[in-house]
Amino acid sequence: MVNILIIEDDKAISNLYRIAFKLDGYKTLIANNALEGINLLITNIVDIIIMDLGLPDLDGIKLLKDIRENNETIPIIIVSARSNEEEKVACLDGGANDYVTKPFSTVELAARVRSLLRFNGVKNQTESVFINGKLKIDYVSHTVYVDEKEIHLTNYEYKILCVLAQNVGKTFTHNYIIEKVWGKDGNDSGTLRVFMAGLRRKIEKDFFKEELFRTYVGIGYRMIRL
Ligand code: CA
Repeated sequence: MVNILIIEDDKAISNLYRIAFKLDGYKTLIANNALEGINLLITNIVDIIIMDLGLPDLDGIKLLKDIRENNETIPIIIVSARSNEEEKVACLDGGANDYVTKPFSTVELAARVRSLLRFNGVKNQTESVFINGKLKIDYVSHTVYVDEKEIHLTNYEYKILCVLAQNVGKTFTHNYIIEKVWGKDGNDSGTLRVFMAGLRRKIEKDFFKEELFRTYVGIGYRMIRL
């Protein structure tokens, strides 16, 4: 399921987004200020960010640069009440992928979101539950089951599992997983290896020697389609 992080202090607008994106099968995470936005970004797998420039606690351009410093690839759409060329240029130079001026239609915004997601190769899995062999992930309640038995994962283990489940059969590089889970300067592949060992211990033990995760030494990890 595609997660859209919305950073917008006007509740009427964020509510409008929530309803419009729900119709498209996306999940929205809503932050009312920059700090909440950063917290949601750290604790969730986010596929795209839509952010207002006029936030109560931090200048939008500063926030944009902070996010970009830590995450080079996540698509960011800026929504601004001001149609100011200088500001638009500053946003695009600061790492925004798109810039939309209020008022705008949610239909147009949704089209821009689809286009950026397509460009980034993100598929919208509208299912709220992921199943692969005995593994089940409930994306809504953030619960993981093996053989219908709940498995307790740490926040980071869960995030790594979601990254691998996002595209079963595809090998993800260490750097890709690390950036998705911790941000660009988040961690090294040694730390990732420790978390992967934890995931294997908790999940694969009930697979009776059947391999769920495949390791490619020096490259990355893949979840096998069972
Ligand atoms: Ca605002």
